[in-house]
Amino acid sequence: MARYDFDLFTIGAGSGGVRASRIARGYGARVAIAEERQFGGTCVNVGCIPKKLFVYAAEFSEAFADSAGFGWTVGERRHDWKTLLANKNREIARLNGIYERLLREAGVEIFQGRAVVLDPHTVAVNGRRHTAEHILVACGSRPAMPGFAGVEHALSSDDAFFLEELPASALIVGGGYIAAEFATIFHGLGMRVTIVHRRGAMLRGFDDDVRTVLGEELQKRGLELRLSATVTRLERIASGLRVHLDDGATLDTGLVLCATGRQPNTRAMGLEETGVRLDADAAVVVDKYSRSSVPNIHAIGDCTNRVMLTPVAIAEGMAVADTMFGPAPRAISYENIPSAVFSHPSVGAVGLTEEQARLKYAEVDIYKTRFRPLKHTLSGRDETTFMKLVVDARTQRVLGCHMVGAEAGEIIQGLAIALNCGATKAQFDATIALHPTAAEEFVTMRQKAA
Ligand code: NDP
Repeated sequence: MARYDFDLFTIGAGSGGVRASRIARGYGARVAIAEERQFGGTCVNVGCIPKKLFVYAAEFSEAFADSAGFGWTVGERRHDWKTLLANKNREIARLNGIYERLLREAGVEIFQGRAVVLDPHTVAVNGRRHTAEHILVACGSRPAMPGFAGVEHALSSDDAFFLEELPASALIVGGGYIAAEFATIFHGLGMRVTIVHRRGAMLRGFDDDVRTVLGEELQKRGLELRLSATVTRLERIASGLRVHLDDGATLDTGLVLCATGRQPNTRAMGLEETGVRLDADAAVVVDKYSRSSVPNIHAIGDCTNRVMLTPVAIAEGMAVADTMFGPAPRAISYENIPSAVFSHPSVGAVGLTEEQARLKYAEVDIYKTRFRPLKHTLSGRDETTFMKLVVDARTQRVLGCHMVGAEAGEIIQGLAIALNCGATKAQFDATIALHPTAAEEFVTMRQKAA
């Protein structure tokens, strides 16, 4: 008789939990998973996937406008939000089904309901107890809302995915990934958009040039940026919402979306009571093998607040399954993780920013270019693309690639391979350009920035 009901009990069927469970099954482990909401977690339901579908929807407005310079006459344009929402919901439901099917076909036992950890080897779901050799906490994160008065009238990004209708205007609080993405989604769908951000530039953590260029490009498109500004109060008025700022200004808007970070979903699930240490942000504290302070309880993904990105959670999930059931413990590398902000224009980056490189390396070479994309010579759109390389002057190794412009994510993914291989500037230069593309600029920059 086995000592426990399962070898692994995973809490949370998001990207990380599902992948870890399937890999563990591949090792022959007896695996169960609990999920209290839809399968697929944040990425599938209220994150990457529906967001990208909305981004595609928003991009049409510029495409229609840009087509005139190429000889097209486009007729009356109208966007029907309800159609987009219904189609998005249908696609997400399809993906929920795929995730569930993948788990069932792999032989993972599924429990639908909220899981609570009772002791290091016992989990309860809907009052029923299950024992397991290992517990994997993959319970994700949820939007963190700021504390200003009237915040209950504001939406989180979770709500934004299910809006019944779009008002004429939106005010977005925050300056991170979600703020930039939803601002340009709403703008592309025809809304007047204001971003209120407490710092002097958006996208803290990205290269400073990228932050400046994005701000300029957003303003060129007609988005209003209220930087170094804080919301002090929000009130409902007859026409919508009134936002009070710390400089005394008031702004009236149709909706307020707070995109002010995400917090681990770890409260009230018995973790601390079981001895699992959480940090001040309620993230599970883990070592490089994703092991918590209770040796047989591991945690991966957003709930550990390391890097809140789906592919990172998936990589952590695979490594944890290898560690538990494979030949040797395995940790993942957090170096050169590419990331993209699917705003319009988009942002892509991999490796070190100039600021980070200057702290770490004695001398750094910088290469930058900013140009008008070929497409806009005929469309007439006032838009530039920006690219930057950060290079270690001594070894000539490329340390960072940064971009603002169309398809930045698609371009940066390829460059991330080069950085992981330790490519030098000379190897970038020796690569034949693919003409005419924007990406070729990454291999044709010769002039060091002063
Ligand atoms: P981010 O951490 O990216 O940004 C949060 C923003 O809100 C920051 O600009 C922050 O300012 C500001 N902020 C935080 N607290 C307050 C407050 N109390 N009042 C006013 N402003 C505040 O979080 P997001 O919510 O945008 O996204 C969460 C995470 O999800 C991201 O960090 C990312 O890891 C992931 N994500 C990834 C995406 C992608 O890969 N494309 C897309 C969406 C999300 P400050 O800079 O001063 O801290």
